[in-house]
Amino acid sequence: MRIRTAAELGGRMTGHSGGAPPECIFCKIATNSSISNTLLHSDDKVVAFRDINPSAFRHYLVIPKQHIPTVKNLQRSPEDFSLVSHMLDVGKSLLHKDAPQSKRYRFGFHQPPFNSVDHLHLHCFALPYTPSWRCIKYLSLGPLGGFIEVEKLLERIEPQITHRSSM
Ligand SMILES: [Zn+2]
Ligand SMILES: [Zn+2]
Repeated sequence: MRIRTAAELGGRMTGHSGGAPPECIFCKIATNSSISNTLLHSDDKVVAFRDINPSAFRHYLVIPKQHIPTVKNLQRSPEDFSLVSHMLDVGKSLLHKDAPQSKRYRFGFHQPPFNSVDHLHLHCFALPYTPSWRCIKYLSLGPLGGFIEVEKLLERIEPQITHRSSM
C-alpha cells in the first residue's frame, strides 16, 4: 500500500497514464500476442478470457488493456463510464453466444480489499455456480464493499448531465 500523489491522480484523469507494475499478470495477458489465441475477445480497449479457476458454468473475465487497478480508480466520467459499459457489452455477447441456455447471468467486480488481482476485471458468469458454494466469493457486503454488480457501478460513475441540487 502506498499513498497516490496528486500528480498520479492527475495523470490518471488524463487517460489512465502510467503506473502499471511490471509484474501485472493481466497486463501481460492483454498485451502478449503469443497467447492471443486463448483470448475470447480482443479489441483496442479490452480483452476477454476464461477465468483460470472458474466458479460457474461459464466464467469469463473482461479487462481493460490499460492498467486500471480497481473500481476505486474509476471516476464519474464519460471515459470510464463508456469503458465499463463496453466491458459489459463484450461479456454479455460472449455469454449469450456460449451459454444461451443459461437462465441467469451475472456481471460485477470485486472491490478492494477483496479483489485478487490489482487490475480491473469484470467477472462474467453464466450461472449456476460450480460448485454452488462458490457463490460466497461474489457476495455484496453492502457498505463494507465485497462484490459490486456492474449495474450499480455504472450508476456510481455515470456522468451527471443535470445538477438538480449542486450545492
Ligand atoms: Zn495491469
Ligand atoms: Zn475478481
